[in-house]
Amino acid sequence: SYRKGGYHAVRVGDQFNGGRYVAQRKLGWGQFSTVWLAYDTTSSSYVALKIQKSAAQFAQAALHEIELLSAIAKGDPSNSKCIVRLIDHFKHAGPNGQHLCMVLEFLGDSLLRLIKYNRYKGMELNKVREICRCILIGLDYLHRELGIIHSDLKPENILLFNTIDPSKDPIRSGHSPIIEKPEGNPNGGVTMNIIEKKLKRRARRAVAKISERRASMGGQAPKSEKTMDGIDVRCKVVDFGNACWADKQFMDEIQTRQYRAPEVILQSGYSFSVDMWSFACTAFELATGDMLFAPKDGQGFSEDEDHLALMMELLGKIPRKVAIGGARSKDLFDRHGDLKRIRRLKYWSLDKLLIEKYRFSESEAREFAEFLCPVLDFAPEKRPSAQQCLQHPWINASSSGQSASKKEATVEKVNVGMSKLQLKVGK
Ligand code: ADP
Ligand code: MG
Repeated sequence: SYRKGGYHAVRVGDQFNGGRYVAQRKLGWGQFSTVWLAYDTTSSSYVALKIQKSAAQFAQAALHEIELLSAIAKGDPSNSKCIVRLIDHFKHAGPNGQHLCMVLEFLGDSLLRLIKYNRYKGMELNKVREICRCILIGLDYLHRELGIIHSDLKPENILLFNTIDPSKDPIRSGHSPIIEKPEGNPNGGVTMNIIEKKLKRRARRAVAKISERRASMGGQAPKSEKTMDGIDVRCKVVDFGNACWADKQFMDEIQTRQYRAPEVILQSGYSFSVDMWSFACTAFELATGDMLFAPKDGQGFSEDEDHLALMMELLGKIPRKVAIGGARSKDLFDRHGDLKRIRRLKYWSLDKLLIEKYRFSESEAREFAEFLCPVLDFAPEKRPSAQQCLQHPWINASSSGQSASKKEATVEKVNVGMSKLQLKVGK
């Protein structure tokens, strides 16, 4: 992809926008871009530099993303709405063409990485709750105040705040920002390969250490052991490459497969509530470490059909009206509203799944399922908005363990009281 129209190759020490930004190390990449940690020599701080592929369609997409991010920044002067902030944008000419560049506030790891750090075991519910609150604040702002649908919400596109000062980042060799190209290399210093290799080696060593420790402790760690404990969990929504104004939609197929809402599969039209569906899928994944729906195609059925079947097994049958209401309904459903090619479904329920597979306590499972199930309503207009979710008791509970056990204790007391009363009456 590092060819005409593609990514721009960056080396540590490369300068951008007339020397204002200096590349430090690669942070990540997506389909359309590479993202670099850069030092902003004007504000003396670190920023994330998103460098788009240069071909016309990518430039077009970047312009659109810049338009949305500008509106987002303008409407939130205090930068408190849990959406990544656009600081600057410019064009950069390279051997592969003109690249649109976005300068964004520098954020930390994605929630996907956090899930991996937790070895796919799921996070403490209090942390899940805090993250959910951030995401909902972001979505409420996008939906209600701006009229924007994110349309690609998922753990990968939610980044934590940085808790580490990058100038003290042990992964990098130096402790101060690189502001000039390292000497002895006319192309601009250390090639990325060496740094990437170093990073990978270090990551491998860290993983080996963890498993060593685990082995010395006698196998599996207890479920409560979490490697990211003690971190104030705050996060921001990123990646507006697929976002749109609700009144100017230009795509039928949106969202990453596992987070895709049923109305998108059925092509019955969509709105803000598609983000709410993805939000619920994300919340489940944070709490359990597993994707809520991971469809696969199989003999005689497509990935879409498996996806709809999985949804129904967990959430009950799709109301007939919803099932037959989309442009693709005729392919997938018969006139009774049953899937044509997957006939036998094994119904389960979310709270049973949480208890039996993920070992939630009954009260934890019930409370979490009561929060998520309405957001997973097949009828998009029935799903609660982000604003409504922010009012939900589950989001506002201070500590689920405590509140749940307290509640149970109270119920027990009441029951004891009742039976005494009954005894008395019986006498
Ligand atoms: P794309 O539109 O190409 O998917 P993203 O905006 O999702 O690009 O960014 C790609 C990756 O770069 C992200 O998954 C993340 O790892 C990293 N990244 C993006 N924005 C930031 C940021 N503001 N701070 C730190 N890392 C970022
Ligand atoms: Mg992305």
